[in-house]
Amino acid sequence: MSVETPQLAADESHTIDVAANLQAVRNRVDLAARQSAQGSEGVSLIAVSKTHDASRIRPALDAGHRVFGENRIQEAAAKWPELREVYDTLELHLIGPLQTNKVKTAIAHFDVIQTVDRPKLARVLAEEMTRSDRRRECFVEVNVGEEPQKSGILPREADAFIKECRDQFQLPIRGVMCIPPIGREPSPYFALLAMIGERNGLSAVSMGMSGDYEVAIAFGATHVRVGTAIFGPRQR
Ligand SMILES: *Cc1c(COP(=O)(O)O)cnc(C)c1O
Repeated sequence: MSVETPQLAADESHTIDVAANLQAVRNRVDLAARQSAQGSEGVSLIAVSKTHDASRIRPALDAGHRVFGENRIQEAAAKWPELREVYDTLELHLIGPLQTNKVKTAIAHFDVIQTVDRPKLARVLAEEMTRSDRRRECFVEVNVGEEPQKSGILPREADAFIKECRDQFQLPIRGVMCIPPIGREPSPYFALLAMIGERNGLSAVSMGMSGDYEVAIAFGATHVRVGTAIFGPRQR
């Protein structure tokens, strides 16, 4: 299976038609899910709205979408509180790196933390969840390509780390997450992540982006994170 360029819908003024893009992606997600083991209800589409302002996000909200991903805490804290006042039942996922000094803000603004990747972070998250009485579902991020510049726990350390998160910190670990190496065939990395999730009894697997989400679903993704194919190209 190949990595494809997302097809973007635009209206007459050549702006991005977010609602049409969202519907097209949703249809493809549902089709891929029906053809895979997860079944039609099994895959959650996370609309990655990073760098885009509220005017670009609203059409997705008005179309009924409620699950979004952001990678920067400050940006999310500036953008989402206003939207939350208007649109209820939002589910905001943190999909970018988390520094321990930002944990408090992250827990205040995000419903799911997808980037738990080291013991110190796990400990601080657990402490802040207890202190604030805000329980947030977590994913353990795995550096499936063992890339030195990337965050994520190494695959060979993942089992022990997941156990530590559960037993020592009592973190609500729901699943695993990865960002495979850019420009390489993602399938072996998707298979590796799904296997790590399965052998640790984790039901959620977050993998797949605009270019490869259908492949990810075929390999067992329960959460796909799609930005460009919905909101168009990013300026930064
Ligand atoms: C930006 C981002 C995405 C979405 O990428 P697209 O290629 O625009 O779909 C998914 N996951 C993570 C972790 C990201 O940072």
